[in-house]
Amino acid sequence: MDCIFCKIVKGEIPCFKVYENDKVLAFADINPINPGHTLIIPKAHAENLYEISDEDLTAVALASKLVIQGIKDALDPIGVACLQLNGKGANQVVMHYHLHLIPRGKDDPELPVSGWELKPGDMKAIEETAKKISSVIKQ
Ligand SMILES: [Zn+2]
Repeated sequence: MDCIFCKIVKGEIPCFKVYENDKVLAFADINPINPGHTLIIPKAHAENLYEISDEDLTAVALASKLVIQGIKDALDPIGVACLQLNGKGANQVVMHYHLHLIPRGKDDPELPVSGWELKPGDMKAIEETAKKISSVIKQ
């Protein structure tokens, strides 16, 4: 499989490592939105949230708590966006699950993805869509 993040995990491609444990690796995004833009990935290949194991997802979540604290202590951002994309239609570029941690500075422009206009939706349509989703969730 020709996966750039798997190659980073194996050490075949270098990275600027931020944090590592037996399940996850965190490293600097080399196309950063901002200084400190960090990616956290499971070491085991999974394309996205549809595929990642519960164990690896938990490990990523716990690592994100450590790394975000490190970003806060090191860079003192005004906020940190945690962003995770699933599928090419959501602009996922590398098809190996990754969580972006994106520090925000006080003079930064608004992140487009988090700056949408808040306007009330159609309550009937919202209810119907929520029911449609909840009725097919498998536990
Ligand atoms: Zn991979």
